[in-house]
Amino acid sequence: MIVNHQKLTKVVEAICVAAGAGAEEASMTAGHLVEANLKGHDSHGVGMIPIYVNNLKKGFCQPDSHAEVVSSNGSVVVVDGKLGFGQVVGPESMDIGIEVAREHGIAVVALKNAHHLGRIGAHAERVAAQGLISIHYVNVVGHDPQVSPFGGTVPRLGTNPFCCAIPVEGENPIVLDMATSAVAAGKVRVALNSGLNVPEGCLIDAEGNETTDPKVITMDPAGSQTHFGKHKGFGLAFICEVLAGALTGAWSVQPGNIRQGTVVNHMLAFIIDPKVIGDTDAFTSETKALIEYIKSTPTAKDVDCVLIPGEPEQIAKANRQANGIPIDETSWQGIVAAGATVGVTAEMITGMLS
Ligand code: NAD
Repeated sequence: MIVNHQKLTKVVEAICVAAGAGAEEASMTAGHLVEANLKGHDSHGVGMIPIYVNNLKKGFCQPDSHAEVVSSNGSVVVVDGKLGFGQVVGPESMDIGIEVAREHGIAVVALKNAHHLGRIGAHAERVAAQGLISIHYVNVVGHDPQVSPFGGTVPRLGTNPFCCAIPVEGENPIVLDMATSAVAAGKVRVALNSGLNVPEGCLIDAEGNETTDPKVITMDPAGSQTHFGKHKGFGLAFICEVLAGALTGAWSVQPGNIRQGTVVNHMLAFIIDPKVIGDTDAFTSETKALIEYIKSTPTAKDVDCVLIPGEPEQIAKANRQANGIPIDETSWQGIVAAGATVGVTAEMITGMLS
């Protein structure tokens, strides 16, 4: 089905409120999730609602929690998300970091214990909108790992995202925002729900053979996701695990820590004010010249043009704002069923969409 983004936002807000969230927290969460769909990342959009409702009911997500500064030392600030919505404590911790970076030129924000932060690019774009650069290392814990280390056959890591956003005056920011797995876990879920295969190089079965069939993740013994770029993606995922998991959250994926079927993110973010490094006019003109040079690269067969990181999301957003957001039937039924468990009936949802 195809859904208008504004109506979809109302549905998600209503489900979040019925599941225990305040109006403000529900609005921030719904806005973030629908924006992820608009930007083409259905893996991190409204399809997460059944997981969020489940986690709210079990107390794994604390809807009233807000970011709390637990220590600050010059440019370094440690923030506890207290298992609040990542869509609430994420932006709050970025706003704290923006203030610190304005004062010191750089901020190191260690955000621990956030319920799922969703699309990390959203947090980076919030910083870039203030003319600041940000770099984010994130780990994913609270549930069984899905990604096998390079050379292994059993999952030992989460999909640990890395993100970097860079403002470009007068234009959209450059945003590299990626899972360190070859694809985000939610993309395997969406493929499974849609009866589709995943691209080659993303999955192995329990014996380590490459496969494109997402059903291997549901088998016993289960298959694994793999990293992008073989040992290099694994290496970056491992660095995320150490910086965000061991350092920031004191909660890495090692099995001594709790795994109860929830999604917790820890994030170490660096926010840099370009002004403290050099001439911002030169930075802007040099970046624009670089973008122009890269985009003018002659293209391979069947490729229209070279894109800069962040551009695919801008293109998807323009398209989906105009034409609606496609949602596969299984994901939609999951959302409707999750709504029903908290009193938002299918009829109410139909009414909100009409
Ligand atoms: P992806 O592979 O679709 O895109 C990764 C990056 O590559 C993006 O910055 C995109 O702009 C860029 N890109 C894509 N196609 C391009 C092209 N043709 N030319 C130039 N650049 C291009 O993303 P992904 O790895 O599937 O991650 C999806 C989302 O999942 C991200 O928003 C990430 O933050 C999120 N995620 C979140 C968690 C979590 O626990 N919160 C975990 C993993 C991933």
